[in-house]
Amino acid sequence: MVSPGAFALESSQVRHEISFERASNQYVHIVSTFPVEQGLVEFAMPVWTPGSYLVREYSAHLEQLEVSAPSGDPLSVRKIAKNRWAAEVNEAGEITLAYDIWAGELNVSANWVDSSLALLNGAGVFLFTDTSRSLPQVVEVRLPADWPNVHTSMDREGDANRFIARDYDELVDSPIVAGNTVEYYFEVDGHPYGLVQSRENRFWDGARATEDVARVIKAQQDFWGINPFTKRYLFLNLFIGSHSGLEHDHSTVLMTDPWGMRDDHDYKRWLGLVSHEFFHAWNVRRMRPSALSEYDYEQESYIRELWLAEGLTSYYDSLLLFRSGLTSVADYLESLAREIRNYETTPGREVRSAELASFDTWIKHYRKDENTVNSTVSYYRKGAVIGFVTDTAIRRATDNDASLDTVMREMFLRYGTKRNGGYPPGAFEAIVGELAGEDVRIMVEEMIRETSDPDVDTALEWYGLGIDRNPSNNGNGSPLAGLGIEVGQEGPALLVEQVVAGYAGAEAGVLPGDELLAIDANRVTEANYLKLLSRLRPEESVELTLARHGRLLTLRTKLREAIPATYVIAPLDKIRTRQKSRLEQWLGRDLVFKQP
Ligand SMILES: [Zn+2]
Repeated sequence: MVSPGAFALESSQVRHEISFERASNQYVHIVSTFPVEQGLVEFAMPVWTPGSYLVREYSAHLEQLEVSAPSGDPLSVRKIAKNRWAAEVNEAGEITLAYDIWAGELNVSANWVDSSLALLNGAGVFLFTDTSRSLPQVVEVRLPADWPNVHTSMDREGDANRFIARDYDELVDSPIVAGNTVEYYFEVDGHPYGLVQSRENRFWDGARATEDVARVIKAQQDFWGINPFTKRYLFLNLFIGSHSGLEHDHSTVLMTDPWGMRDDHDYKRWLGLVSHEFFHAWNVRRMRPSALSEYDYEQESYIRELWLAEGLTSYYDSLLLFRSGLTSVADYLESLAREIRNYETTPGREVRSAELASFDTWIKHYRKDENTVNSTVSYYRKGAVIGFVTDTAIRRATDNDASLDTVMREMFLRYGTKRNGGYPPGAFEAIVGELAGEDVRIMVEEMIRETSDPDVDTALEWYGLGIDRNPSNNGNGSPLAGLGIEVGQEGPALLVEQVVAGYAGAEAGVLPGDELLAIDANRVTEANYLKLLSRLRPEESVELTLARHGRLLTLRTKLREAIPATYVIAPLDKIRTRQKSRLEQWLGRDLVFKQP
């Protein structure tokens, strides 16, 4: 017999064992051992994971749960909520839970296993009790014989595939990638980093990617001036899934196209993703909104500042990529023009402010539907536009003594370097006010809380730049006509996928899901749709033939100017010396201009 006190000292950690006997059927087996007191014990699984604001219902994929008492005897377990189980324990000691997780969701925030690769996110794998969240968590990974590697930012214990997290939060924040991987280890300013690729890929030059990632790190390190890492930081780059990433304290999971490096645009997009996720190591991982200071894994955390956490990260991902020398000034201005175009062509920007779009992320941004374009605005996009206008307003008000860069560094000093409950609502605006004055603070507050558009034209003008909102019309004299609908071919049908408010299709009453058959009795196919529209003119009336729920339908509407596919930012005139110097201070590099 051991006294309860002695027991508490001996087993104050939770141990998890992961094995892959059924990897080819996409199952992972987990055996977890928890120290518990006598009485009723409840086990829970998170419903979401930090960084991805969607209730994912991870517990739906947990099967075959079996619990054993400290004696080793089976213990009956009862399900008490969608993500909670309870067991009555007759004596204090270690109880063991064994279960399977189906890992067939290809997503940076979920679990994926096949015969050669595993991506495991702790929130969807490991359970916790009321008392176990603060305990150290030991993870032992039992690899199949033909899987050489396992990677995670948890500390390794000894030579085996045994890792330790200081608590449950770190376990959730440390995704595990296992299987056939290729690793590149390198240093920047004396700190160790790793680029892990899910497999060897002859279309992807790992050495070149490593050099470029190092340049991104260098630019961001110079930007923040503080290295927040206490161990090696890992870029876990998987050649599966679609372009996406998720940020962590000492790692990021990226999904990308294995052919990406064979296309300059796609490769720069990947570098932009690297830049975005790495910037998060400061902005949102360490410098957090107060709503995320302690994670409630069982329900939504309502955050008002995702325009800052995600939007300003989007503003800086491309700007710092330019400062790193990996993109051209033309690339940078093109990406800024794209953000502004995508923002301004979203009618939902008049429905939700940046702050409300952030708050509603759980039901809007992560739950897109056919009407999303009309009912909300992306806080990534509007946040990036707010970033640009705020940056310029601060530079203008302070004659370039301060900038958004200064505000971000000050935010990090106050809220990122120690755990202090995160930044409260209004913290960012307050620092803007301190540095640039009350007028700028009020303007920034309006951009965050109101639905009015940030004044990008005035900001661009300060640098001698202007924006052309309809470049495709230049030259041919007649503007393109459009219906303001998105269509897509599905089998033999051309289906309406989205109807943009305020345009011809919406005014006529076209609905998402309608099949578009003809315009003015001319049969429409995917191949001739744009060509037909290009022959028509804005203000012309047309008759649309549609099918809805199997019945034919005719609607009349007057065409409008087409929604422009691109915007272009270019010098307004000859760039003056003063403007060139402003541009160079903003963009952070010397510029050579071919004057128009
Ligand atoms: Zn992000």
